[in-house]
Amino acid sequence: MEFALRHRFSQLGFITFFCLTATLFASAACLAETKGKFKPFYEEPKNPEYAEAQKTFRKEKLLESITQQWNASIIIPQDICVGFVELGQPNAVYVPETHRILFGYELFENLDERFQDVEADDDVRMEHIVGAMMFILHHELGHALVDVLSLPVTGKEEDAVDQLACLIMLNGGEDGEKAAASSGEFFRLLQDDDEDDSEKAWWDEHSLGKQRYYNILSWIYGSDPEKYANIVGEDGLPEERAARSVDEYTKMKAAWKKILAPHLIH
Ligand SMILES: [Zn+2]
Repeated sequence: MEFALRHRFSQLGFITFFCLTATLFASAACLAETKGKFKPFYEEPKNPEYAEAQKTFRKEKLLESITQQWNASIIIPQDICVGFVELGQPNAVYVPETHRILFGYELFENLDERFQDVEADDDVRMEHIVGAMMFILHHELGHALVDVLSLPVTGKEEDAVDQLACLIMLNGGEDGEKAAASSGEFFRLLQDDDEDDSEKAWWDEHSLGKQRYYNILSWIYGSDPEKYANIVGEDGLPEERAARSVDEYTKMKAAWKKILAPHLIH
């Protein structure tokens, strides 16, 4: 893999990118003591092609900045490690047995390849990649919180934690909103891999890529319909879904606020 773009990380300012979780549910109050911490790590990759990515992430303190925000916002009963590792497949996971959030170097490579197909501008492409990474890390945070805090979930947990990730992005200012859009684009690109319906993983616990794409479009639009009016239309969010987006966004925000309230640091 070619990591020619990595030096551009420093231009993106993504270290200051997310003061998100701390501000999302500002009204929450809790006097309980934090017993655990989110702890970042960067596993040394065996594949030399990932060495530069590891070095860059470490140098930019990518996970330190994210876990710092999480530690300042959320009370967890035990440590949760958050790290970059070689997973053997382009994926990110939360492992309940070890309380670890793992982001594969392979997924970073995959994001890089997918966005190369659709975005020629190096800086814009890197913004998309980092945006999608942030969304995915917050999606895994959702799984971790459901586990360690025994949060109630009815319906598909995958959709619920997509909601949480999107809410956090959409409450993170302009950069966060861009990150939400980038993650939507990523899911659209994912689905393009198998246009044939018979190839689609109907059985999978995740909603299909295109459904996740439209969900994210709907939530972005629902968060501010005036600002995002241009999302609605033939090439974007269909009118039928847009008509319900504000209600959808309002309800999911209220639900997550209530669910997380006892576990947030005031
Ligand atoms: Zn998931």
